[in-house]
Amino acid sequence: MTERELERKARVSQLLLDAARMLGETLEPDRVYDRFHDLLAGVVQHDGVLVSSYDESDGLIRCDYAWSDGNRLDTSVFPPLPLNREGGGMQSKVIVSGESSLFNDLAELVQRPGGTYYDVDREGKIRRLPDSGPPGSRAAMMVPVKHEGRVVGVVQIMSNSAAYSAEQLEVVDGLVGQMAAAVRNARLQKEQRRLEAAEAAARAVAGEREQAANVLDAVGEGIFLVDRGGIVRLWNRAAALVTGVSADDVRDKPVVDLFPDWRALVTRIPVVEHGAAARSATLPVGVGRRDLWLSFVAVRSADGVVYAFRDLTSERRLEEEKSDFIATISHELRTPMAAVYGAAETLLNRETTLTPEQKHELLEMVASQAARLSQITEAVLLATQLDRGTLPVEPEPVDVGELTRATVDAMRSQLPPSAEVHVEVAPRVATATGAPDRIQQVLVNLLDNAVKYGGDGRVSVRVEPANGAVRILVADSGPGISFAEQQRIFEKFYRAGPELTRATGGTGLGLYISRELVQRMGGSLDVRSVPGAGATFVVELPRA
Ligand code: ADP
Repeated sequence: MTERELERKARVSQLLLDAARMLGETLEPDRVYDRFHDLLAGVVQHDGVLVSSYDESDGLIRCDYAWSDGNRLDTSVFPPLPLNREGGGMQSKVIVSGESSLFNDLAELVQRPGGTYYDVDREGKIRRLPDSGPPGSRAAMMVPVKHEGRVVGVVQIMSNSAAYSAEQLEVVDGLVGQMAAAVRNARLQKEQRRLEAAEAAARAVAGEREQAANVLDAVGEGIFLVDRGGIVRLWNRAAALVTGVSADDVRDKPVVDLFPDWRALVTRIPVVEHGAAARSATLPVGVGRRDLWLSFVAVRSADGVVYAFRDLTSERRLEEEKSDFIATISHELRTPMAAVYGAAETLLNRETTLTPEQKHELLEMVASQAARLSQITEAVLLATQLDRGTLPVEPEPVDVGELTRATVDAMRSQLPPSAEVHVEVAPRVATATGAPDRIQQVLVNLLDNAVKYGGDGRVSVRVEPANGAVRILVADSGPGISFAEQQRIFEKFYRAGPELTRATGGTGLGLYISRELVQRMGGSLDVRSVPGAGATFVVELPRA
C-alpha cells in the first residue's frame, strides 16, 4: 500500500470513529439523519440525499429522509415504491444485489427501459423521468443499509455537477453503516420509551379499575352487569350478601342460570338510557335458594346493562304482617260485636215480651262476648308490649307441678263437657324459676288450643324433670300440625289449616305470645307432632 493510500485509510478511520461517536449521541431517529447529513457534507459534494427503508413484509420502499438543493423535504410527498425484483430502478437494483453502486451518467441511465425514475426539486416537487425531461442530477451514489446481512434500506446521494469516485463510495459506505446502527439504536430506545409509557398508562388504568371495583363493593346496593350476550360480568359484594350467591358462582355465566325466571323479569324492569332518570320496579325474585322482593333499576352502559337492586323482602313481610293483622283482627272483632249488638237490640225492642230468663240469657251473652272482646284487645296489647320489650317478667322460684294442677282445675269449669284433661306430675321435679302468672297464661293457651284443635277433647298434661330444666308437656290426639307449619304457628297472626281454624275463633297471637313469654323467663316452647297423630307442645323452664 502506498503512503498516500495509508494516509487516506487513516483519515477515513478517524472520520468513521468521529461519526460513530456523533451519531451515537442522539436518540431521535430524525436527528440521526440530520447529523449523518452534516457528516456527509464534509466528505462528498452533493445536491441531494435520500434515505429509504425497505420493508420485506410488504415489498415496499419508503422514504425516511430527503434533502434537495439545501432544503429538507417532507418525506410524505414520496410515494412508497414496490421493489422491482428484475433490478429496474436504482434503488431496487441495490436492494436486490446488496451492493453499493456508482452511476455517473444519470441522463443516459433514465432512458433505459424497465425502471422508475423520479427527480425532486428543492420545493419537493416530483417529476417522473425521463417523460418530463432529463434528470437534474448528473451522478449518484447508492449504498445499501444492512441489518444482520439483510438489506433494510438504501441511501442515495446525488450530485448535479461532479462525478463520484470509488474511494468516495467507500467512505460513504462506512458512514452509512454507522448511520444505520445509530438509527436502529434510536428506534429501539424510542420503542422502549413507548413501551414504558404504555405500561405506565396500563398500570394507571388498572389502578382506576381497582378503585372503581372497591367503590362498587362498598356500596350497599347489589350491582351487576349483564353484557350483550346475556352473561353476568360483574357481581358486587352487596349482591352476594343479599342473594347468598357468591361472585365466583355467577361471574362469566349466563344470567338465566342465576335468575331462573330472568326472561319474564327483564320485561318488567325498565332500562333507562344513560343520563335519564331511572325508574324502579319491585318484583318477587327467586335467586339461589332464596325468595326475595327486590327493587331494581337498570341503566344501559357501553358494555351492556347495569342493574342495581335493593332488598325489600323484610319491608314486604312487614306489609304482609300488617294486612294479616288487620284482616284477622277485624274478623275476630266482628263476631263478638255482632253478638253484643244483636243482644242489645233484642233487649231494647222486645223488652216487654221477653221473659226474665230470656233477658238473663241475653245479658249473659253480652257479658261473655264483651269478655271475648277484651281478651282480643289484651292479646294485641300484650303482643305489642313483647315486641317493644316493655313487658316486665319478674322471675321467682315456682313449683311447676303444683301450679299446673291448680291451673287445670281452675280451667275445668270453662272447658266444654266433652273435654277430658288428665294431669300427671313425675316424682322429684325440681323447682323452676319464672313468673307464675305468666306460666299460667301459657298453660291456659296451650290447653285452650289442645281442646280447640285437638279433636276428641282428650288432653294429657305431664310435668317432668329434664336436663337442668323442668318440662311441661301438653299433648292432644287431634290431627296434629304439618311439618311445614310447625315453625310458622309461632309467628304473629299465623293460623294454620284454614278448614280447621275457620270454625274456631282465634287471633293467631296465642302461640306467639306464649313462646315470647317462656323465652323471657329463660326457657323454650316447641311443638312435636306427627301429622295425623296429635300434637305435643313442650315448655321447658330453667331450674331455680
Ligand atoms: P289461634 O289459636 O288464635 O289461632 P295460636 O297462636 O294459639 O292462635 O295458634 C296458631 C295456630 O296453630 C292455630 O290457628 C292452629 O292452626 C295451630 N294450632 C295450635 N295448637 C294446635 C293443636 N294443638 N293442634 C293443631 N293445631 C294447632
